[in-house]
Amino acid sequence: MLASCLPPATMTVVGAKCRDFIKPLSGCEQPLIACSRLAVFYVPKEWYIGKMKKRLVIANWKMYIQSPEAAKGFVAGLKRKTKNINNVEVWIAPPFTVLPLLKGVKVGAQTVAAHAEGAYTGDVSATMVKHAGASFAIIGHSERRAFGLTNEQVHAQLAAAAGAGLVPVLCVGERERTQDGSHFSVIEEQLTSALRGAQSLSSKLVVAYEPVWAIGKSAAEAMQQEELQETVIFIRKILADILGRAGARKVRILYGGSVEGANAHPLITEGGVGGFLVGHASAELDSFVEILKACQK
Ligand code: PEP
Repeated sequence: MLASCLPPATMTVVGAKCRDFIKPLSGCEQPLIACSRLAVFYVPKEWYIGKMKKRLVIANWKMYIQSPEAAKGFVAGLKRKTKNINNVEVWIAPPFTVLPLLKGVKVGAQTVAAHAEGAYTGDVSATMVKHAGASFAIIGHSERRAFGLTNEQVHAQLAAAAGAGLVPVLCVGERERTQDGSHFSVIEEQLTSALRGAQSLSSKLVVAYEPVWAIGKSAAEAMQQEELQETVIFIRKILADILGRAGARKVRILYGGSVEGANAHPLITEGGVGGFLVGHASAELDSFVEILKACQK
């Protein structure tokens, strides 16, 4: 069969819905086989993995690590235990209150306000977190979308973060997967609305693909690498539509959703991502270090 002539690393199986989106990238991939449900395409791996040499792992501490002592102790332990890990970049998104206290590691905010300043009680602006030492901000996390954050507000937050000189880590992901592939439309809508007018951002942008159904569970319930790879190709294609192909290749695409020591290696080697956004396992030092070790090349 024709498909078996190609090296496995350059081949991928994509669902019919996804195929419709990928087809227009002529010259990049050739459909080899098509049947009613699945199609096999030739997609060079370097195209969808992007251009970054180092893998990036971001710890999203949520509200897990609360005291200054625990936060500083974690960072000290992390430095000790990762001395020999050279080719993985680690960023930490702690709660606002401990963000300015963490030294010697790249830190960022878990969210920022959509507005630059003004009468917004309780909000924290991108400029404020920048002053506190942040160099990036998570934007549009599903746990914030669950509290009513709209695509429009995500767009405004992303613009505010970028305007203040923070690298936006834009989270996208479907609540559920459906047989007809409608989850691809959800992801496309989230990307296009958030990145409207953001063409100049590409080398500064990180996209975290976080399927909501896979968050906060265990490695056994997380997404499988084959499904992840298909979605990453799709995301890269949508980014190419928005940012242009050269711009899209500069964007780092991460996966988040129950990454643990047990599934980090197959996801990073076969999932087509450039790293992870890690939730619960990032708040436990040994689990987090296990993930970082799995990401070494
Ligand atoms: C997250 O909330 O960003 C996340 C990936 O969480 P977890 O790893 O706990 O699924």
